[in-house]
Amino acid sequence: MDGQTIAAIATASANGSISILRISGPEAVCVADKLFRVKKRDGSFVGANLVDAPTHTIHYGFICRDVSFEIIDEVLLLLMRSPKSYTAEDVVEIHCHGGAYIAKVILNLLLENGVRLAEPGEFTKRAFLNGRIDLTQAESVMDVISAKSDMALNTAEGHLAGDIKNVITEMREVLLTDTAYLEAALDDPEHIELDDFESMLSGHLDEIEPQIEKLIANSENGRIISDGIKTAIVGRPNVGKSSFLNCILREDRAIVTDIPGTTRDTLEEDVRIGSVLLKLIDTAGIRATEDTVEKIGVEKSLSSIKDCDFVICVLDSSEAINDKDIEILKLTIDKPGVIILNKSDLEEIVGIDHVKELVNNNGINKQIISFSSTTGSGLDALENLLEETFFKEFFSKSNTNNKEIIITNIRQKECLIRAKESIINLRQTMSANLPEDLLTVDLLDVYKNLGLIIGAEIEDDLADKIFKDFCMGK
Ligand code: GDP
Repeated sequence: MDGQTIAAIATASANGSISILRISGPEAVCVADKLFRVKKRDGSFVGANLVDAPTHTIHYGFICRDVSFEIIDEVLLLLMRSPKSYTAEDVVEIHCHGGAYIAKVILNLLLENGVRLAEPGEFTKRAFLNGRIDLTQAESVMDVISAKSDMALNTAEGHLAGDIKNVITEMREVLLTDTAYLEAALDDPEHIELDDFESMLSGHLDEIEPQIEKLIANSENGRIISDGIKTAIVGRPNVGKSSFLNCILREDRAIVTDIPGTTRDTLEEDVRIGSVLLKLIDTAGIRATEDTVEKIGVEKSLSSIKDCDFVICVLDSSEAINDKDIEILKLTIDKPGVIILNKSDLEEIVGIDHVKELVNNNGINKQIISFSSTTGSGLDALENLLEETFFKEFFSKSNTNNKEIIITNIRQKECLIRAKESIINLRQTMSANLPEDLLTVDLLDVYKNLGLIIGAEIEDDLADKIFKDFCMGK
């Protein structure tokens, strides 16, 4: 950190009702004071003496050019003094009218007055470097911002509140105490015994290791939570795949993205069903209207099934089940999924019981939902099933203290894997009956690898790498 005062526009660069500029650093209050004026009853403008104003106060006034006092905008100014601010430094926020241009003019004024333009993520980086948050909390800031579902938001908010930090810190404390004991005993063998040390350490590792393993295992759910459940919609032509897709897209009032792939053949679409985010894969194939007979044939189904976390098999309840239906159903045998018995608004030729029997006979373990893409009936059942299948066990809403921690960040996962490997090394050293001073090295290795997760041990340039992907002003 260079100790300079930095500033940036913290809101999106578009016209809106309010724009917010953020200033942080030792000169934040002074610079704001130079540009901020309040209006007296007689219409004249005077300074507000912000330098003496108490922390966490809001001031109404005007941003003016410093020499001419020309008014730029009517603003609210929020003053938060170190250490109780986002960055733990003195912070001033200027809430001006929401024109992208106004915000830029004010930003330029700040820059002309000795403030440096902040780099992307620099405010959060300062919060981290100043020790207000750890690295997992810093990383979760972007996850909160980019969350696309309740599940993703819930998880990111947990990380922001420090759930990963707390669990890792606890593990490190145990290991540090053990290391300190070992070192003390090696220094003073006459007074401190090491007889029971290895069994005590072993007991501690027996508690720590499964926690690490669980965090690593849960990280697969982390990907699903933050990126969405990769979902394929399959079925023979004309069962209503495209109508089903349109139905669920219509229900999601805020479709997040259309992601065109490199070829016209692949198109991914995000759709929220309840609190769950589905990443629908290969929707271009479903939507293609030409060549209807081959539309999502068996081969195409096979490739999208291979790549997905969840498969939605569509059947048509208004027609008899045929060989192609069964062939496609069989392809999904190894994947979690659901059978959508579509067109429930039409006269029923195939009922749920019949499909149940069919799937049982073919060893297919999937629930069946009666659905109509025309009326949307069945959507609630689909929502319940998705939440049940993927996340219920992790998110008991009534008991937020008890929910599982799910790592969504690949860097953190890699550090956990390193920590796990270093525990294996430590155990090997223990079982090889090597001199105890060698244990210190291995113990510290586990401690350090866990420290990498929370940023207590920071590798070269890591902070720069992490924060460069942040938004401007964050
Ligand atoms: P795809 O080939 O599997 O994508 O099937 P489409 O979505 O193109 O649907 C085939 C035909 O079935 C179209 O005429 C749709 O309007 C109709 N269809 C699809 N779903 C339903 C439904 O739930 N109810 C009714 N009545 N018709 C449907």
